[in-house]
Amino acid sequence: MFKKKIIWIMGITLSVLAILVMSGWVLVKHNKDTLLSIYFDTNQEKDMGFFTIHYQKGDEALLKKLEDTLPKIKTQQERWFNQSEVTLAKADLDIYLSTEYKETDAEHDEGGFYLKEFEIIHLNKNFTISELENVFSHELAHFYFVKYVNDLKVDVDDIPNWVHEGVAMSFAQRVFPEHIEQIAEVLPLMELEIIETEDGHKGYTGNNYLEMLYAIEYLIYQFDEKIITALVEETKKEKDFTRAFTKLTSLDLDKYHEMFVTNEEKLTEFENLMQVDEAEAEKQMLLYIEERGEYFNEASLLYTYLGSIYMNQKRYSEALEILERKLLYHFEPTIYRHLSEVAIHVDKEKSLAYAKEAVKSARRNEWNVEAFEDFLSEQEKLLKAN
Ligand SMILES: [Zn+2]
Repeated sequence: MFKKKIIWIMGITLSVLAILVMSGWVLVKHNKDTLLSIYFDTNQEKDMGFFTIHYQKGDEALLKKLEDTLPKIKTQQERWFNQSEVTLAKADLDIYLSTEYKETDAEHDEGGFYLKEFEIIHLNKNFTISELENVFSHELAHFYFVKYVNDLKVDVDDIPNWVHEGVAMSFAQRVFPEHIEQIAEVLPLMELEIIETEDGHKGYTGNNYLEMLYAIEYLIYQFDEKIITALVEETKKEKDFTRAFTKLTSLDLDKYHEMFVTNEEKLTEFENLMQVDEAEAEKQMLLYIEERGEYFNEASLLYTYLGSIYMNQKRYSEALEILERKLLYHFEPTIYRHLSEVAIHVDKEKSLAYAKEAVKSARRNEWNVEAFEDFLSEQEKLLKAN
């Protein structure tokens, strides 16, 4: 009897709780615009086709700049995911452009995040426009990819986070590229975890993000960009991502990350070869680059080595071409100065443009601006004299 009563009371309490939680959820879902506008402190909104953007009065110029990025993003979206605007509009996506937010379980860094449960994207308006263009593309890429996975009736969580993040980063690199760094330390991709960073944000470390980007970039380079959607399709068939990955790529997922450790041995081998046989060193380094694509730790150094070989042999166009590839990894004033010095042999306009960029970069990086201004006027004199 007593037991029965307890069960009744518990049952009723649980049902009431369930109803409260459910109605809370429905309430939030249906009033998310209003609630989130308060949360993110936005007071204006604009319909942008498949989403609504919420912003603060006075940010119209910034909004316009973001709007200008859309054609490029759309073209890339169609290439990779081919989602129709009608399908995308059904998601009822809201984007908040503001400063204030608190991260909940958003999987993201401080530039922005996409929360699939609520179909919202937050963009931190304090970022520079070039950073925001990249973040905006990144978050939209998450949204597109999640829609693609949903459409195939694959559980979004069955696709590991490193794939979600790597795909978003690769997507953004194609439309609004950012300078990137080398990876300092690698971990097995399936073991990368969200941590609480020093400033209290939850997310992956910058180093983890780079590893995810390198991992996706290598797949795209080895196969082609269709590998991304193919991985989802194969996961559906195999009912397991790791099996799908192995089947499609013949790579061992447990060891795949080791590819992204700096290959010191190879570097030493090239350095030694350069001393004795420049032609053979050139050949070997080009082969290695051909094998690896663009994203690997030794890339920048190999471009420097090849650049110096070409300069020695007065092959200036080739030197310029290979050294320009360093711009993916470097943006300090000295790289622009070097490019200006190389370009002066083959392309005067470019030489001047790089000298100007060196000054801008010195200003940005708070280096000795005067030294680079002097360099610019020297280059101008040289260019006029010729
Ligand atoms: Zn992301």
